[in-house]
Amino acid sequence: MKITGVKTYVLEGLLGNKAFGWSLWVTDRRQTAVCVVTTDEGIEGVGEAFFVGGPSTITAAMIQDGYAPLLIGADPFQSSVIWDFLYNRTRDQGQKGLPISALSAIDIALWDIKGKALGVPVYKLLGGAYRRRARVYATGLYEPQHVPSVKEALVAEALGYKKGGFSAMKLKVGYGIETDMEYVKAIREAIGDEITLMVDANHAYNAAEAVRLAQQMEAYNVYWLEEPVPPEDIDGYVEVKQKSSVLITGGECEYTRFGFRELITRRAVDILQPDLCAAGGYTEMMRIVALASAWNVPVIPHVWGTNIGLAAALQLFAVLPHFPERRFPAEPLFEYDRSPHPFRDKVTHEQFVMKDGYLDIPERPGLGVTLDMDYVTKNTIR
Ligand code: CA
Repeated sequence: MKITGVKTYVLEGLLGNKAFGWSLWVTDRRQTAVCVVTTDEGIEGVGEAFFVGGPSTITAAMIQDGYAPLLIGADPFQSSVIWDFLYNRTRDQGQKGLPISALSAIDIALWDIKGKALGVPVYKLLGGAYRRRARVYATGLYEPQHVPSVKEALVAEALGYKKGGFSAMKLKVGYGIETDMEYVKAIREAIGDEITLMVDANHAYNAAEAVRLAQQMEAYNVYWLEEPVPPEDIDGYVEVKQKSSVLITGGECEYTRFGFRELITRRAVDILQPDLCAAGGYTEMMRIVALASAWNVPVIPHVWGTNIGLAAALQLFAVLPHFPERRFPAEPLFEYDRSPHPFRDKVTHEQFVMKDGYLDIPERPGLGVTLDMDYVTKNTIR
């Protein structure tokens, strides 16, 4: 089998009065770059690149202008060799960030092709399923922009998740410790003690601030504090982790096994959160997971995209080992983004439906989704 072409589609949806904020900025739109790899056998693979910092046209250009010319004629079953080849081409200036997100989308598409060619879901190619369904947590509870009271809106949203069957949810923090604690307190009181509550600061704090926040949150049984400090501040992570009984997590801003080496070997986090669509796709993710397993650091991937990224992440989720294996092992939680997204569900024909707090892991070949090309071609902005 040979690769014959690579297409990219940049999709955008405006949020209107559903614009939302977090500790860094307010967004009025969702965007993504979708990559389709075509082959001489008529099998097509799809991937998605994770990028929130700017227009997805940049990632699409990296895929299209940077990698696509190097892929034509290659055999998708050489996916590890292709990964190393492409990484080496951009290594000098591209060890982190956008080039790796772009490479992730291509790698995911190659695994989709391999699965479709063999008629098996990707998880079977990756070594088999530890689990057939994923216990999800709701990612939401961002800062709404057009409401009389943010706190009341957050409480209503949290109660909605509880009513909808979620057993866990994650709140954005990082607005200043006083405001954060107001939100944490109000939500915990509203949802009760039985729901797992996590918080995510999106690296808004320095270590001293994060320690204060973590210690104040202990009384409200917060399960984890995500990205307390900037991703470059490994010493800050270590300090916060040592001084907090709330679990410290991070990794969505890190890339490749080389980047994760520091977080893992320095034991900077309690739970590692690489993103499949950013950290390097399945090929690199399996290397990161292997590295983490050698240090016994649990991996709970970050997930934040359309149904394509969601489908891809579910396949990966199936194969995550236990940290450690034991008679009654701890099961990971699957991040299920519920924040406003105008086209998350519209890009694929297949839909994901949560049942009893779980999402089934698709058994269909490849990622288990097919693109709705009518929607994608009509709504692409590049
Ligand atoms: Ca996060």
